[in-house]
Amino acid sequence: MRALVVEDDAAIASLVTTALGAAGFVVDRAADGEEATHLGETEPYDVAVLDLGLPGADGLAVLRRWRAAGRRYPVLILTARETWSDKLAGFRAGADDYVTKPFRVEEVVVRVQALVRRAAGHADVRIVAGRLALDTQLGTVTLDGMPLRLTAMEQRILAYLMHRAGRIVSRTELSEHVYDGATDRDFNSIEVIIGRLRRKIGAEAIETLRGQGYRLCT
Ligand code: CA
Repeated sequence: MRALVVEDDAAIASLVTTALGAAGFVVDRAADGEEATHLGETEPYDVAVLDLGLPGADGLAVLRRWRAAGRRYPVLILTARETWSDKLAGFRAGADDYVTKPFRVEEVVVRVQALVRRAAGHADVRIVAGRLALDTQLGTVTLDGMPLRLTAMEQRILAYLMHRAGRIVSRTELSEHVYDGATDRDFNSIEVIIGRLRRKIGAEAIETLRGQGYRLCT
C-alpha cells in the first residue's frame, strides 16, 4: 500500500513516515502545498495523511484540488486546529478522518490502516481469502491458521492482492502500489516475488491472466 504524507514539520513527517513504513506502507513525502497538490493529483495513492498548515497552499485547498481531479483515496487530516468549524471544513473538503496534534503516531497508523481497508471494501480487521488470512493491523498473514514468514516485499504484494482478492490486478497497478515514487518500478522482480509467494501459499492461490495481471483466489 502506498501512502502520501504531507507535512512541513520535518520531525513529524519523519515520525509518521517511519511508523507507516514499519507497518508495511511505502511512503512518498511532500513538504509544501504545491508538491502535495502535484503528487496527489498524479500518483495513485492508497491513502494520504495531510497537514493543514502548509507553506504554499492551505491543506484544505490541496484536498479540494485532489478531489476536483477525481482522486478518491482516503485522506486523514493531521492538524493542530481542533475547533468544530475546522473539522467540519475538513470533512466538507473531502477528508475521511481527523487526528489533532499532539498525537500518538500509533493512532495515526491504526486509523490509516482502517481507512485503506474500508476503501477496499473490507469492514473487518481480518481479510480472509481462501486459505489465507491477513490481519490488517498486525500485518501478519496466516495460511490454514499458521503464520507465514514473508519478506517485506512479499508482504506488500500479498497484502495488496488480499485487499483486492478476487479482482484482477495488473502488473502496472501492483508496481504503482508496492514501490514508492523514488524507486524504479521493476516488473521482473514482481514476477519473481509472485513466484516465491506461490511456493509459500500454493501455486493455485495466485492466478496469472495473460496480458491482464494477477488475481488472488478467494
Ligand atoms: Ca504544518
